[in-house]
Amino acid sequence: MNQFVGIEGGGTKFVCVYGSSPTDLQDRTVIKTQKPDVTMKEVIEYIRFAQKKADIKAIGLAIFGPLDLDLTSSTYGCITTAAKPGWEHYDVIGTLKDSFNLPIGLDTDVNGSAIGEHRWGAGQGLSDFLYLTIGTGIGGGAVVGGELLHGASHPEMGHMLVQQNRALDPDFEGVCLYHKNCLESLASGPSMKTRWKVDSALDLPPDHKAWDLEAHYLAVGLINYMLTLAPKRIIMGGGVMRQAHLLPKIYQEIVTHLNGYLKDDKIIQHLDTYIVPPGLGEDSGICGAIALAEKSFMLAEKKCNR
Ligand SMILES: [Zn+2]
Repeated sequence: MNQFVGIEGGGTKFVCVYGSSPTDLQDRTVIKTQKPDVTMKEVIEYIRFAQKKADIKAIGLAIFGPLDLDLTSSTYGCITTAAKPGWEHYDVIGTLKDSFNLPIGLDTDVNGSAIGEHRWGAGQGLSDFLYLTIGTGIGGGAVVGGELLHGASHPEMGHMLVQQNRALDPDFEGVCLYHKNCLESLASGPSMKTRWKVDSALDLPPDHKAWDLEAHYLAVGLINYMLTLAPKRIIMGGGVMRQAHLLPKIYQEIVTHLNGYLKDDKIIQHLDTYIVPPGLGEDSGICGAIALAEKSFMLAEKKCNR
């Protein structure tokens, strides 16, 4: 099996592995996210280490954005504005290219998770599906016609504006720096922390009304994505979703707010198989990085054989 390095770059840590698939992930190494020069130096050292252990064919990097993913752009592979201070305009792909003569696959962290789920997880065999992460932020990666949806750069689904629930949530100011009432502002982990004054959303007991409100906002978001993209499945990952009681509440809210509009029994009668947890558990992102590497390797091979 061809061996690849996969890197999942997040706001607090970079996870690095090498291998070929979810059942063959070697030597998981965690690097703290610091200033880009410091972190990327350690990432480069990791890749050199992996090259000593295996014949690495390509590198895949799924990293926080926003990223310039326009292949025709002079700043392709650069972070644009950054949620992480110090990373603004950092040339991620240039840094790796300076050190390695290998194909490099790059995409956002959430797109990485989507492609990981497509290759080996709950999106396998589906031409159109959506992967959402509900955690420190909210993001979505859509596979449309078998390919990741990029369009002008990449979607930022978490910042979709939603109506604030004035009855259940009258005074909350939201946590997004840009929007008072985007989905991330009202339903991310930090929004739950701030609204309910707890250290973590996970400290809220299952019978707390916080989860009813959370299910309400997420259902509203999901309905908008369902009606816009018509995905064949929605996969929901991220820290906030790690509660067995949350998905059933979301199903109920979806039925209520759709109000009979969608007649497709495949969806409405089977919400428990339509909206599902990730098939790869916590590893969607890192497997996605391996899948990005694999894809870039295959593209490079194709070009060589032309
Ligand atoms: Zn926002």
